[in-house]
Amino acid sequence: MRAMDAAPQGPRGPVPGGGRLEPMAPDGDTIVVVEDDHNISELVALYLRRDGFRVLQADDAETGLAYVARERPKLVILDIGLPGELDGLDVCRRLRAQGQLPVMMLTARDDEVDRVLGLELGADDYVTKPFSARELVARVRAILRRAGAPPATEPAVLEVGGIEVDTARREVRRDGQAVAMTTREFDLLAFLALNRGLALSRRQLLDGVWGEDWYGDDRTVDVHVRQLRKKLGRDLPLTTVWGVGYRLG
Ligand code: CA
Repeated sequence: MRAMDAAPQGPRGPVPGGGRLEPMAPDGDTIVVVEDDHNISELVALYLRRDGFRVLQADDAETGLAYVARERPKLVILDIGLPGELDGLDVCRRLRAQGQLPVMMLTARDDEVDRVLGLELGADDYVTKPFSARELVARVRAILRRAGAPPATEPAVLEVGGIEVDTARREVRRDGQAVAMTTREFDLLAFLALNRGLALSRRQLLDGVWGEDWYGDDRTVDVHVRQLRKKLGRDLPLTTVWGVGYRLG
């Protein structure tokens, strides 16, 4: 079988049948990786596939967006620096305009973090290069677990100050008007509202909102709190508890 001998070699060798794409694992979720650095893309794809995901690799923004439209992935991993007209920030902005598809950003510099997680882009998480592929996969798992979490059994609408947190509709309202929130901002606000009156440490907030196997640092909480304050202003009775963390209500 000469044709099989000449089949392109992926990281796991030729796929039976000669296809270029990895076979879909049983109920393996699809993840699109948009990264022009092939070493990084291959490493990330290798670890994700090993973990049972189906991975599509794009090395520019346009290809990545086409994969998203066609393959309906569960999550997108996006490098910021991409060749061509659109960079990772543009792609993130477009995906956010389209819906709630979870986005994990790869950043080259720490000072990009506020922008990536913030109001403008609202990525679900990020890692700064160089990162550990193992850690990246753990974070991807955590994002997907949260996205598929069953609805809480608490009352659907929690009222704190002048704010309504509607956990059934995943909506935040001020004076009856919906306020746009990223997924993570909403989860943080809902967690604070469920525990209103309690001073929560940043670690407790990370565990409760991001998951116990999340590797990030306290700064992530502060960035999101800053966004909540920016969006909700004085209607949000959120207090910084010195030496501890935050308390709502
Ligand atoms: Ca790049």
